Amino acid sequence: MALRLGVDLGGTKIEIAVFDPDLRELLRRRVPTPRAGYDAALEEFAGLILEAENEAGAQCTVGIGMPGTIHPRSGRVINAYNTPFNGRRLKHDLEAMLKREIRVANDANCFALSEAIDGAGAGSAVVFGAILGTGVGGGIVVEGKVLHGHHGIAGEWGHTPLPWMTREEHPGPTCNCGRRGCIEQWCSGPALRREKDARGEENALAVYADRLARAFSLVINFLDPEVIVVGGGVSREQRLYASVPELLPRYVYSPAVETQIVPAKHGDASGVRGAAMLWPG
Ligand SMILES: [Zn+2]
Repeated sequence: MALRLGVDLGGTKIEIAVFDPDLRELLRRRVPTPRAGYDAALEEFAGLILEAENEAGAQCTVGIGMPGTIHPRSGRVINAYNTPFNGRRLKHDLEAMLKREIRVANDANCFALSEAIDGAGAGSAVVFGAILGTGVGGGIVVEGKVLHGHHGIAGEWGHTPLPWMTREEHPGPTCNCGRRGCIEQWCSGPALRREKDARGEENALAVYADRLARAFSLVINFLDPEVIVVGGGVSREQRLYASVPELLPRYVYSPAVETQIVPAKHGDASGVRGAAMLWPG
């Protein structure tokens, strides 16, 4: 059985971990994301993977989770503006350097996969992973497999408008994607902080919970997962796990709402774990 190497490629840091067939972590490295031009960054990146393999003492399968995704037809990285690899054929070029196939997926998809396989969503057929951090990301896992989608953007619910905006909310703040009123602008960590600064802790959490319930109702009406696993900084707000389910029946198209809303089990480790799990054990 092969060792599995997972990479969580972020805008500021790269985390690499190697797992044995039982998903026990053998080693973990964290280094700053290369900032040099594409060629130098690629070489440094490949070097980090080979170094970790060397230390683990075996060639591994390699899975990479990153912001954005690889466009299924052009093979170019899209929506990963804060990495040196955006717009480039990262998978193709890295495969040429490492002389083997590698697998790449969106980081929220890796999060959802890790939680669906042996985390808070284990045992459920359809799992939605929602990352509420600096941004808002989402990933869908069906029967233990990531649903990538025709453009590689399946689950990117953060860039749809918040449903049932009030008169005061409409049309909402401008988003990084250029549109207005995206869920990311209402449900991210910075959005919750902004609300706390304006209203105080209690009121802010009540307003935020209602917005999150509206955002999750969109997921439930479209996908109807058994469980929504929440990650990112906001997932530490314990009160949301009581308040959001209470609010969901107002918005979900079903007489009773049995979708579980639960915090991630693996926390910050979900990125590297899910990336490694892109290959079967
Ligand atoms: Zn947006």
